[in-house]
Amino acid sequence: MSGEQNKIPQATAKRLPLYYRFLNNLHHQGKQRVSSKELSEAVKVDSATIRRDFSYFGALGKKGYGYNVEYLLGFFRKTLDQDEVTKVALIGVGNLGTAFLHYNFMKNNNTKIELAFDADPKKVGTDIGGVPIYHIDQLEEKLGSASVAILTVPSSEAQGIAERLVESGIVGVLNFTPARITVPERIRVHHIDLAIELQALVYFIKHYPLEGEHE
Ligand code: ATP
Repeated sequence: MSGEQNKIPQATAKRLPLYYRFLNNLHHQGKQRVSSKELSEAVKVDSATIRRDFSYFGALGKKGYGYNVEYLLGFFRKTLDQDEVTKVALIGVGNLGTAFLHYNFMKNNNTKIELAFDADPKKVGTDIGGVPIYHIDQLEEKLGSASVAILTVPSSEAQGIAERLVESGIVGVLNFTPARITVPERIRVHHIDLAIELQALVYFIKHYPLEGEHE
């Protein structure tokens, strides 16, 4: 991310990839402008928030015209460093890890899983979706310039592997294990627990039904 990103509030920054993906699709369809209402419906963010977010980018929508798609895309590319691909390593090629290797992150994004690690000798030496799988013992040796890691190992392995990743220069971890890992403050960890997300969704459906449901 470039320096000017620092001026953007974190909540806004988190929505950038969402906006970027949608605008990129519009651009591919040959669209030159988009209204905040249209954007709002597509990305499910209310239009007041979109207008406020976009004002941080210096993009002021014109009444009756909307936003210039090209301008916004240029801004997002610069801000998200779309030209610079972030190398990602995946640790743990189980069910979830395998699915990620098959998933083409590059479609709309600037991240690429370059290599994977596992402890299972049957998996080591093979590749999935063109991504080579190395033995976890070779982590330090093979990690190279990867700066982000996806953790899809069993929970019991998460902390030890996280420590090795940090030692090897990883600055961000996307942790899919239920384990809460402890790392130095300078390392950013995003935690995604699919079981908890699903449970939360079911809870919200039960206790906080959406108004539109009764229409
Ligand atoms: P998932 O949790 O992705 O559904 P799974 O049920 O197939 O996976 P798990 O036991 O959760 O399997 O293990 C995930 C993967 O992590 C497996 O491929 C396993 O070989 C690998 N693994 C286990 N321990 C380690 C380790 N210390 N280092 C690297 N990989 C490991």
